[in-house]
Amino acid sequence: MEFVTKSPEATKKLGRKLAVDLINGQWLMANDSGVVIALVGDLGSGKTTFVQGFSEGLEIKQRIISPTFILMRKYNCSDPGSEHEDFYHIDLYRLEENIEAEVRNLGLEDVWNTKNSIVVIEWAEKIKDILPKNTVWITFKVLEDNSRKITLNDQ
Ligand code: ADP
Ligand code: MG
Repeated sequence: MEFVTKSPEATKKLGRKLAVDLINGQWLMANDSGVVIALVGDLGSGKTTFVQGFSEGLEIKQRIISPTFILMRKYNCSDPGSEHEDFYHIDLYRLEENIEAEVRNLGLEDVWNTKNSIVVIEWAEKIKDILPKNTVWITFKVLEDNSRKITLNDQ
C-alpha cells in the first residue's frame, strides 16, 4: 500500500490511523511475540514524525522524543483495557559496526519476543536478518520539501 503525505501532520495522521487499525485487530499477527514495525528511509524522511502519530493512536500521552542518542525509549499504552502493554521506540541510526551482534548483546530481541509489546524501529534495515518474519516494513521517501511517499508492506 502506498501513501503520499503533503505535510508532517498528514504523516502523523497516517501513523495514528495505522495504530488504531493495529489495536482494533485489523493486522495479521503472531500471538506469541510482539508486533514489530520496521521503518526505513533517509534522515528527515518522516520516520519519527510518523511514530509521533502512531503513539497518539496507541493513546500514549507522553511526548515522543527521538531516541537517536539513547537507542530505545519505552512508553506505556495508557488504555488499561488494551491487550498491548508496552510500546518501544528504537532508533538504530548511531549503530555502525557489528550492528546485529550489538543489538543481540543489548538484549533487544527480548523486547520484540515479548507478547503484547509493540516495537517500532527506525533504520531497521540494519538488522533485517534478525527481525521476526512477520515484521511490518514501512518505507519513507522524500518527494519534495513537504511531501513524502510512505509505502506499507505488511506481507
Ligand atoms: P526521520 O525520523 O526520518 O529522520 P523526522 O520525522 O525526524 O525524520 O523529520 C522529518 C522532517 O521533515 C521534519 O522536520 C518534518 O517537519 C519535515 N516534513 C515535511 N513534510 C513532511 C511530511 N509530509 N511528513 C513527515 N515529515 C515532513
Ligand atoms: Mg528519526
